[in-house]
Amino acid sequence: MKQLVLASGNAGKLKELSALLAPLGIEVLPQSAFQVPEAEEPHPSFIENAIAKARHAAHVTGLPALADDSGLCVHILGGSPGVLSARFAGEPKSDQRNNELLLTRLAGQTDRRARFYCALALVRHADDPQPLMATGEWHGEILDAPRGSAGFGYDPLFLVPDLEQTAAEIPAELKNVLSHRGKAFRQLLDKLQAELA
Ligand code: IMP
Repeated sequence: MKQLVLASGNAGKLKELSALLAPLGIEVLPQSAFQVPEAEEPHPSFIENAIAKARHAAHVTGLPALADDSGLCVHILGGSPGVLSARFAGEPKSDQRNNELLLTRLAGQTDRRARFYCALALVRHADDPQPLMATGEWHGEILDAPRGSAGFGYDPLFLVPDLEQTAAEIPAELKNVLSHRGKAFRQLLDKLQAELA
């Protein structure tokens, strides 16, 4: 495997992954370079959607493809907003409205446990029967008001109890070490290294 398509339009993710996979001799290409149309994400779980997105990109490009799907799961809400995290408060996507809706849903609740979850799927070809999977979780609590200005999405509401800081208050390097995405990426790297060894 010398080239891999990243099934995402996010430039930050492309840069991060390129740096991680360069030592393995793998070049990461954005799906925009192949005019891959947006994939359907119809499934209730992150893992299913990551696989669907990876298969779609592999099908269109004929190359191995990697996709990620992530979001916030709140315990007392049965895992909601889950796969709907980006559009919890509807269209157009708005982090601020999503955060406001989350606070409304949690009004009066004392159980504030939540976790970020990230699923990665790598398919060697569109019909790969054994996708390489990696997942990561980051456990925390939802505050009743936002704190901090770094990060994105639900970061200002997500308290990391050990640090007594929100995900929007900690430096980006530390977030990469602790986060669901960081954990999943490192797990995938281990699996890829094992596969290529
Ligand atoms: P995506 O899978 O990167 O598109 O993320 C889906 C949505 O989940 C984002 O739009 C955010 O609302 C939420 N999310 C995922 N990861 C994070 C994170 O690290 N911090 C805050 N919100 C996140």
